[in-house]
Amino acid sequence: MTAQTEHTRCLIIGSGPAGFTAAIYAARANLSPILYEGMQPGGQLTTTTDIENFPGYPEGVSGNDMMEDLRKQASRFGTDVRWGVATASDLSQAPYKITIDGEKVITCDTLIIATGATAKYLGLPDEAKYAGMGVSACATCDGFFYRKKAVAVVGGGDTACEEASYLAGLASQVYLIVRKPFLRASKIMQERVLTNPKITVLFEHETLGLFGENGVEGAHLVKRRGQPDETTVDIAIDGFFLAIGHTPNAGIFRPWIDVDEVGYIKTIPGTPVTNVAGVFAAGDVADPHYRQAITAAGSGCQAAIEAERYLVANKL
Ligand code: NDP
Repeated sequence: MTAQTEHTRCLIIGSGPAGFTAAIYAARANLSPILYEGMQPGGQLTTTTDIENFPGYPEGVSGNDMMEDLRKQASRFGTDVRWGVATASDLSQAPYKITIDGEKVITCDTLIIATGATAKYLGLPDEAKYAGMGVSACATCDGFFYRKKAVAVVGGGDTACEEASYLAGLASQVYLIVRKPFLRASKIMQERVLTNPKITVLFEHETLGLFGENGVEGAHLVKRRGQPDETTVDIAIDGFFLAIGHTPNAGIFRPWIDVDEVGYIKTIPGTPVTNVAGVFAAGDVADPHYRQAITAAGSGCQAAIEAERYLVANKL
């Protein structure tokens, strides 16, 4: 081993609720875990506003405060929390090798992948301008702030239809902005959206930009872009929700770990167990369906328990 190589029994990659919960459990089981925080310390929650659906916070909590608390809790029991991005992996044989920041190699007996997923955005400058001021990529997280207001959801897949239906239960008016003349979502989700009187589906529309003084007040749209009958239209909205898909952050593990057609890590249903012994996946990187802080935390707990059992069973 070179001076740049270090060994641990339990390595955790990712610092969202899945990673930190895994760290709390692993540390309390005396596994002395090392956790690397990754590109976005604290994960996706640090980009939302208040979290009001995590049990135990009757007044809500800001994403940053919750992640700071989780970090402190993981550290208190002995997790070695570090800055650094996992840039390569070799899971061909145990102990597994993870390269950090392109140079340092950590070998580990167990690996918990909690690298999350990244919501896709359209790439408009206004999405950054109004971040936290009306632009969101999570209706379940932020929909409550738009009770009796008008919102728009972008996308035509199952997520967009699900988010639009969810928001219709809160908002006064929901626009679904779909770039094609049809929805890609499953039939049942389409039906739910098309028959909901609060949802207006704007087929063949694309978003050009957002406007508003102290937050989103509306969106500039274009209909049938590039066609002879192209027209522009403005809609008045208070919230702009992206639902055009997520990218699971599993790229560096893909040579070894089975993923589905979108790239989510495949696990044995109901468990964090991957196809590689001793390697577990927790949170959004393995969850295309729920993507909630509480479900991520739950799977982080499962991953740490599985790691501990694996170490015992293999006398490591
Ligand atoms: P999808 O990839 O299925 O759909 C993405 C949608 O966003 C498409 O309508 C796509 O348009 C649109 N889109 C993508 N990029 C842009 C863009 N730049 N501008 C405008 N629109 C854009 O993602 P989902 O997150 O909806 O679903 C991911 C997977 O998870 C799917 O397999 C889905 O079935 C599953 N899922 C299942 C659920 C359930 O069963 N309850 C709930 C949620 C998700 P276009 O059609 O033109 O490509």
